[in-house]
Amino acid sequence: LLDAFAASNPASRECFDIHARYLPGANSRSVLFYAPFPLTMARGEGAVLWDLDGHRYDDFIAEYTAGVYGHSAPEIRAAVIEAMEGGISLTGHNLREGRLAQLICERFAQIERVRFTNSGTEANLMAITAALHFTGRRRIVVFSGGYHGGVLGFGAQPAPTTVPFDFLVLPYNDEAAARAAFAREGPDIAAVLVEPMLGASGCIPGRPAFLQALRTLATDAGALLIVDEVMTSRLAPHGLAAQHGIRPDLTTLGKYIGGGMPFGAFGGRADIMALFDPRSGPLAHSGTFNNNVVTMAAGHAGLTRLFPPEAAAALAARGAALRDRLNARCAAAGVALQFTGIGSVMNAHFAAGEVRRPEDLAAVDARLRQLFFFHLLAQGIYASPRGFIVLSLPLDDDAIARLEQAVGDFLARFAAL
Ligand code: PMP
Repeated sequence: LLDAFAASNPASRECFDIHARYLPGANSRSVLFYAPFPLTMARGEGAVLWDLDGHRYDDFIAEYTAGVYGHSAPEIRAAVIEAMEGGISLTGHNLREGRLAQLICERFAQIERVRFTNSGTEANLMAITAALHFTGRRRIVVFSGGYHGGVLGFGAQPAPTTVPFDFLVLPYNDEAAARAAFAREGPDIAAVLVEPMLGASGCIPGRPAFLQALRTLATDAGALLIVDEVMTSRLAPHGLAAQHGIRPDLTTLGKYIGGGMPFGAFGGRADIMALFDPRSGPLAHSGTFNNNVVTMAAGHAGLTRLFPPEAAAALAARGAALRDRLNARCAAAGVALQFTGIGSVMNAHFAAGEVRRPEDLAAVDARLRQLFFFHLLAQGIYASPRGFIVLSLPLDDDAIARLEQAVGDFLARFAAL
């Protein structure tokens, strides 16, 4: 498969070699690399991508969940063009930021006030900063396998420069460990920062009892609960925390909420967010492009015209049904492959038992993952090398059928080995 891949992608290979003279690894996003060289994409439309060598792919990565709308959705394009015709970064307050903020506060009830950033990473950095100042404490509880941004990663390959906050890293989905940590260090804990589903570490859902325990522990200790919904807010009409009946003190958002433009946001309780009110609060929060009209317009168009709460519910239901069908196929084939996740976001794992935390996947053979990835690619399915599979709005039933067919074909060959 690897030889066939290399032989059929000479333009991508050449592009990689040339770009590597200027960019270490020929790129600026580590997640995109795989050996022998990654495909260079030339163009996208809807849920279809074409690479430099002219191959067509059904896009099942969807910009690691930011691409809910697919490529070049006409509604988003129109909103962006209209906004740009009036300037991009107006060096002033603008109407569009207020409009998008109102929409977010109305959709996610726990967010009483919100501020914008250019990435989910920044949103989490600001939420942590807010918690430290609000509580006057110093420790931040996070979870092994958690991913909160390029400088806030706690997985098997930690982010190289995890910023020097005072982190306490606990096992995911382990209420007893969380209780013990709070019993020991409660008065020092400023906040718990948690993904309600571990995304980058393999789409491992947080169990409701675990997430609810974190809410209770934080409240009892006078600490804040920060729920990172950068990836998960798309999985339920009002986000995953609301789905679990949990009201975080602070929530971070990102990805599709900016309509596919660079975006992040953090928000929550008005009394906490007042820290950032220049009339009364001590904290500055700056960023040249934080309120750029292109992102504000794209986000507003996306949330209102393409992805209102009902659309989020419908996409999640489609994803859940697909995951059930894929898992049924794996079970019928007797192959130790399973698809974990929630709604429209899932991850293939070559593991038989229940996956409760990333450590349960430690024994998975990386070669199987690689085989699966290149098998799908050869069938025109662009899923991620780590087995991450995401639905977007323009992905039609035919594309989903092609994915199921490709997985079925893999299972048949695998079972015959
Ligand atoms: N938090 C989570 C849960 C994420 O999945 C990501 C991005 N994959 C981030 C934060 C960081 O967002 P960004 O890449 O926009 O900095």
